[in-house]
Amino acid sequence: MNMNLLQAATAGKETSAINEVAFIEGVEPNILCKQIACGRIIIMQREKKPPLGIGEGLKTKINANIGTSAEVSDPDIEVEKARIAEKYGADTISDLSMGGDIDSIRQRILDETNVPITTVPIYQTVVEKGSFQAITDQDIIGMIDKHIKIGISSIVIHAGFTLEMLEKLRNSKRMMGMVSKGGSFTSAWMLQNRRQNPFSTHFDEICKILSKKDVVLSLGNTMRSGCIHDQMDGPQEMEMVMNAWLARRANELGVQVIIEGMGGHVSPEKIATYVAHYKKTTDYRPLFVAGPLPIDIGVGYDHISGSVGGSLAAGAGADYLCYITPSEHLALPNVAQVREGVVAFKIAAHVGDILKYGTRSEDQILAGHRRARDWDGQFAAAIDGDRAKEIHQQDRAETCSMCGKYCAILLMEEYLK
Ligand code: SF4
Repeated sequence: MNMNLLQAATAGKETSAINEVAFIEGVEPNILCKQIACGRIIIMQREKKPPLGIGEGLKTKINANIGTSAEVSDPDIEVEKARIAEKYGADTISDLSMGGDIDSIRQRILDETNVPITTVPIYQTVVEKGSFQAITDQDIIGMIDKHIKIGISSIVIHAGFTLEMLEKLRNSKRMMGMVSKGGSFTSAWMLQNRRQNPFSTHFDEICKILSKKDVVLSLGNTMRSGCIHDQMDGPQEMEMVMNAWLARRANELGVQVIIEGMGGHVSPEKIATYVAHYKKTTDYRPLFVAGPLPIDIGVGYDHISGSVGGSLAAGAGADYLCYITPSEHLALPNVAQVREGVVAFKIAAHVGDILKYGTRSEDQILAGHRRARDWDGQFAAAIDGDRAKEIHQQDRAETCSMCGKYCAILLMEEYLK
């Protein structure tokens, strides 16, 4: 019998993907196997591409969302965004395209990248069917099947809520209501058709499709807060508990699971507590957090706000951060904004890793080059060396223009030698 990765890990078999991730992350393969078997670590895979581990004890990973919208749709730009996101360190890319020829754009993104690609199949279903009423159960499942067949590594579904939870949300005192796009599509379908959540109704069938192709299931965070005044409430708690239950069921059916949670907008003093609460409730499964944004007034600079929130979340145990760009809440990001978002979240992930695991050699390497005023060494060791190089004036071999001949490092080198 052909075993998928979770089944192999449960049987204690170290597959090539498990060995590769163990090597990359510097952990023992048998420990990695055990962590996968109990659902605390997942591995995303793509044919002929490096596997990626996410979860407890591994380096914090970041995701970049790209994709066309109904209003802005240029395939070349989306492919360039994917290329730039990967170049500056995105560990995964989510293609959320909703405009133009979605199939062809997605294929081009797959062709041009090496990292795992995630989709949210309900997006394309909504575009293709045109109205929520027209979407059948088979359309929803058929779209998942279609995405898996083209080589997607992970899909997002919003399965963790019911009509009753939507009623609770309707009567809640939230300022922002629901801000999840996939969650709002699923909710609109449920309310329009007066049916329960199609993803939980067909959960076992969906898991069987995912299990066959070893695709990771990401359980979406429909009830996340949309401003820092909307703190953890009843609907969010209920979705978290239901997602925890669905994750256990998916694992039983041979599917690896990521829990999306907590994110959106969370007041900074609550971030660590909420991360701990999510991790405990979901049996310490990999936690994927969008941002979170710890303030609401940073609009135009939300990549910076989000990087601060993401640092706190990663430091408290979040495993996987979804980046935020400067255009958050304002527009579809352009290529430069994708780069800024990726770099801001690479910084957040790195800060989080220092908080989780202690100081890291990368910083020591850069400090050594700085002490030696080895500019090329610094550019090579930096998260975005290209940006550092642009700012530094190349004609200054010894110092930089900040202090020039009064360079403190140079002076002390002379006087202390
Ligand atoms: S000139 Fe000043 S800022 Fe530049 S390397 Fe020397 S001490 Fe650092």
